[in-house]
Amino acid sequence: MAMKMRATGLSEDAVFEALEEFGRNDLDVNAGGTFAYIYDAGPDVDRIAKRAYTRYLTENALDPTVYPSLLRFENEIVAMAISHLNGDAEVVGNFTSGGTESCLLAVKTARDYFREIRPEITAPEIILPVTAHAAFQKAAQYFCLKPVLVPVDSATFKADPEAIRAAITPNTIQIVASAVSYAHGVVDPIEDIAAIARENDLLFHVDGCIGGFMLPFWKRLGEPVPPFDFSVPGVTSMSMDFHKYAYCPKGASVILQRGKHLRRHQIFTCSNWTGYTVINPTILSTKTGGPMAACWAVLNYLGDEGYMRIAARMLDATKKIRAGIEAMDDYEILGDPELCLIAFTSDTLSVFPVIDEMKKRGWFIQPQLGFYGSRENIHLSIDQASLDRADAMLADLAECTEIVKAKNEQLVPDDIKAFVKGLTPADFTPELFQDFMKMLGSAESGALPEGTSEINELLNVMDPDVAKKALTEYMNELYVPPKHNAAD
Ligand SMILES: *Cc1c(COP(=O)(O)O)cnc(C)c1O
Repeated sequence: MAMKMRATGLSEDAVFEALEEFGRNDLDVNAGGTFAYIYDAGPDVDRIAKRAYTRYLTENALDPTVYPSLLRFENEIVAMAISHLNGDAEVVGNFTSGGTESCLLAVKTARDYFREIRPEITAPEIILPVTAHAAFQKAAQYFCLKPVLVPVDSATFKADPEAIRAAITPNTIQIVASAVSYAHGVVDPIEDIAAIARENDLLFHVDGCIGGFMLPFWKRLGEPVPPFDFSVPGVTSMSMDFHKYAYCPKGASVILQRGKHLRRHQIFTCSNWTGYTVINPTILSTKTGGPMAACWAVLNYLGDEGYMRIAARMLDATKKIRAGIEAMDDYEILGDPELCLIAFTSDTLSVFPVIDEMKKRGWFIQPQLGFYGSRENIHLSIDQASLDRADAMLADLAECTEIVKAKNEQLVPDDIKAFVKGLTPADFTPELFQDFMKMLGSAESGALPEGTSEINELLNVMDPDVAKKALTEYMNELYVPPKHNAAD
């Protein structure tokens, strides 16, 4: 039987002791040693965000007429986002729980808008450069659209306008591009793609989830940032996250639409059930006011000046780390990153064990698998907090690289690699997966493997559709209800 709720409650102290105990093995959020997941603007911003978040934790944004405070937070945050991205009076928007929700809404809105204006399209398609965030493939899957993946330039990793043009069919409804792309940190040629969208009467979403907020600050610092926002005619919607490089607590993003005629199709309304009237401009219904209050608080606490200070530190950190990696013979940076997201690969060693070695020293850096001409690589999301530890990180990276080279270990035997490479999605069964997990020393359900090099080596050679099945299986095994302990 699965674990049950306890019969009598714990004391407040016991609850918090348990919370601390649970968190003992978590990634340390404030150590400046993480190059993914965490955006750390320092203890003052952290304190203010938490205070604002808890102040509005119990308010419910389900009904903005009952909580005018929440409506005001949202409208002010959206207004700031529109100004930041050069939107005119036509642009409208909503606060969402994150980049994925913003991207989902961009696609759902396009689908429903086209159902109205072009009802003859019954099998709609969206064009996605392979560098577009996975959230758009999620949207295509959820909303039953066909994702049409197109290759990007093999040297710059930027979307290729001609490949996009060639992918347009009578069923195409929307094109997506990034400013910047997560994987390589580059800005797609937004003006060229926007022109193609306009010529073909298509919607065009620019995903500024990770880059949209910081790019304008870097531009003012003298970096060459091409036009990427609503100043470009033909850009019909944008997403921008506050919970990344705007340093707001998680659960904060916006979806912006060029016109209420589009946004109308974003809104879900239900007046034909027996309960209260439901009118949701975004996906969630009941939701806490915490994230929007905290977002408003951080934006207003830092202001333009505060963000310029942070942007300058991020730029310094990026320049330093990039130069350090470029100086190492073993590594090559993929493309020419235009923001603080750097991907680098190697001809002389496998990058995956370097990640494991770095982890032993308290650095969290992210693997990216090879796909469509983008070789397997190490990804760094550089933060303003990275600046103070950039030298230490580079020194450790150099040492870990030497360790991996000296070991010269073959992580996975050639015959297993060849077997895995030859697998088709039809071959892949849950039983096969269990055998593999046993072989890799993580037989127990829910146990996280120590190092991930072997797994990444295998995933990297697999057919992406087989890897997809393997990863789904992995997650399906990770979430298992703990057993009931009779002693409790
Ligand atoms: C992070 C990210 C997303 C998805 O955002 P979440 O907040 O993780 O849901 C979408 N697009 C890009 C470019 C991103 O970096």
